Amino acid sequence: MSICDGLQPLHPHVALLPSAGMGHLTPFLRLAALLIHHNCRVTLIIPHPTVSLAESRYISRFLSAFPQATPLQFHLLPLDPSTANSTDPFSLRFEAIRRSAHLLSPVLNSLSPPLHALVYDMTLISSVVPVTETLRLRDYILFTSSARMFSFYSCFPALASKADDDFAIFGDVDILGLRPIPRSSIPPLLLIRDSLFYKIFKEDTPKVTKLHGVLINTFEGLETESLNALSGKKVLEGLPNIFGVGPFPPCEFEREEYGDQLKWLDAQPAESVVYVSFGSRTATYRDQLRELGVGLLRSGYRFLWAVKGKKVDKEEEESLEEMLGEELVEKMKGKGLVVKNWVDQVQILGHTAVGGFVSHCGWNSVIEAAWNGVPILAWPQGGDQKINAEVVEMSGFGMWARSWDWGDKVVVKGEDIGEKIREMMGSQLLRGQAARIKEEARKAVSSDGGTCRINFKRLTEEWKMIS
Ligand code: UDP
Ligand code: UDP
Repeated sequence: MSICDGLQPLHPHVALLPSAGMGHLTPFLRLAALLIHHNCRVTLIIPHPTVSLAESRYISRFLSAFPQATPLQFHLLPLDPSTANSTDPFSLRFEAIRRSAHLLSPVLNSLSPPLHALVYDMTLISSVVPVTETLRLRDYILFTSSARMFSFYSCFPALASKADDDFAIFGDVDILGLRPIPRSSIPPLLLIRDSLFYKIFKEDTPKVTKLHGVLINTFEGLETESLNALSGKKVLEGLPNIFGVGPFPPCEFEREEYGDQLKWLDAQPAESVVYVSFGSRTATYRDQLRELGVGLLRSGYRFLWAVKGKKVDKEEEESLEEMLGEELVEKMKGKGLVVKNWVDQVQILGHTAVGGFVSHCGWNSVIEAAWNGVPILAWPQGGDQKINAEVVEMSGFGMWARSWDWGDKVVVKGEDIGEKIREMMGSQLLRGQAARIKEEARKAVSSDGGTCRINFKRLTEEWKMIS
């Protein structure tokens, strides 16, 4: 069958395969919206069922907003968790998708019109490569983290081969063209050899050179150093083309109703509120939650705090009073807003009342803060987040209290938290840098030579050449 689309000009047909969790799904659906904007035909493969309610809601909203996208339910094989060395429901779902990936072969092969490309999640490489190789399909990953993290990721096979059993010989990681990555920033689960995270890294990272390309939701104004090193092939020989296609602008379909939180923000002075959130899948220990509450009170600033006690939203059962204690909840009344449900982070960060963001530095949160010019106080909790925090710090629009370490290592005292929040909220320097990054972010998506546009054009041209 011809790949041309009837009498229409050529519309590349692209299938997207996201992985589990909002941190992975969100950039995929924003990418889907951009591809549709660039006249691509999009098939969205939806691993079923989703782990969180947030994911299923988000997918439904996307499909209502974009009826031209074709959904394809992907029913996963059951996974016995005892065979996977992880208790994290999102990582277990990565593994379930990996173990089911071979089922995609006949489905992808039968799509009409035939596919020009498959763009899939970075956590699925070694299980999807055999499928795309058999089908002779161009494959790309969407790397849902920073270009700095991708640089580390692609060098991992060389690093791991030099390490001894407990990685004791690992010092700081030197990558050509990049400022060194301190050993303390390495994702903690990578230092545990029988973890599922390590297994996935070990299997996937050597396959990066087999891909046709890597898409990253980032832009030059934020990650000049890493993007230059990657495109100059300094990081690793044989890397495929790297496309800095970010920042992905938040989409209309994501917008929640203008609810109480936003109305509360409307009543606050400009840049007076600190917003606190550790993303969609990080639960905070109770002791730390209480210290954080104390810290917010001590800061003297108004606050909007999204509290999470459980990794998966369906499992949130406790009330705020049970989590924080009645006394603290009482003290916080009138000083800020504490919420336990899903918040519309994009609208919050875009609100003029918000002057700073205490963030775990999940990459989407970093990009959303950059897009809105909001300074960050970085408090990495796990995974790639310290490497992302380095990007925030190096680009000058945020600060990082390194002594706070990973979220589960130390209980940081409220006094310390309050002091750092005051420092961030009071810094004209950070504000100026955040405004500059926002300008760069907007420039990158501008139709007047923005890098995001240029890279999308490169990609779609690449697909159109296939016949
Ligand atoms: N998010 C949101 N409301 C919430 C929690 C999270 O809108 O209550 C969004 C946030 O804006 C971001 C994504 O969920 O787009 C979380 O991704 P990120 O990479 O920041 O962190 P993760 O959740 O993967 O740790
Ligand atoms: N957009 C983007 N990257 C692209 C194409 C579009 O980020 O490669 C976003 C961007 O936010 C832009 C919006 O889509 O403002 C609408 O783009 P359009 O091409 O319709 O026109 P523009 O308003 O940019 O001139």
